[in-house]
Amino acid sequence: MMRSRYAPTPSGFLHAGNLENFRRVRRWMDALRGEVVLRIDDMDGPRARPDYVAAIFEVLHREGLAWEIGPNSASELEAQWSQRLRLDRYREALLNWGGSQLLFLCSCSRKDKVCACRENGLSQRALEPALNQLLAGAAQRQFALKLRVDEGIQRVWYDEEMGAIKVDLTKQLGDFVIWRKDGIPAYQWVSLIDDVDYGITHIVRGQDLLSSTAAQLWLSELAGYSFDQVQFLHHPLVTDENGQKLSKSVLSFGT
Ligand SMILES: [Zn+2]
Repeated sequence: MMRSRYAPTPSGFLHAGNLENFRRVRRWMDALRGEVVLRIDDMDGPRARPDYVAAIFEVLHREGLAWEIGPNSASELEAQWSQRLRLDRYREALLNWGGSQLLFLCSCSRKDKVCACRENGLSQRALEPALNQLLAGAAQRQFALKLRVDEGIQRVWYDEEMGAIKVDLTKQLGDFVIWRKDGIPAYQWVSLIDDVDYGITHIVRGQDLLSSTAAQLWLSELAGYSFDQVQFLHHPLVTDENGQKLSKSVLSFGT
């Protein structure tokens, strides 16, 4: 079964760019007789406000954007579908992979220009205690778990909208966070595991997320998940008449 997803983050109200994204997801799946999963990216608990969550359902209903799999209300999200209920899954997946010593603990702050931490890859044995420490809050925001991206890591794929794409992950992103200082798994890891678990075959994103796609392709290979069959579509960002990105525009409700 072909399957794509709407994956809004409830850290703000939806904007025109989200709607454009959802419409493209629905259109693609309708054309292929596929299904749509509603996956609300609420791992970042403190920023996932209830009114933002409620607004997602409101806008999807108002716009006639249907989905076949996922929560139908904020209470269903909380009870069954929240990413926060899946914390063990993200943890287990990381432990099963082991990180091939490409994972390291980084205690740098934003001000640090050079990260020396990346030279010390975590052994498989050291991963679990480090992860437990992060989860228990014992790290007290002292370190994040990052993936080392060495020189010359590129990812190439055929994009439904853009054709042949090549992203230089080293230059575009560099080392990136897998598990955050505040104890929650980072977007790149959560998104990959969710896409694997929900059997996602078609991924639609804005063109500002090309480096995230490259990061997840790289992670999937390292961790042994097959993404060879997944198709990608990266659409242009929605802009106003002056060419400004519309990510700040808030959709109005109840009007
Ligand atoms: Zn560092």
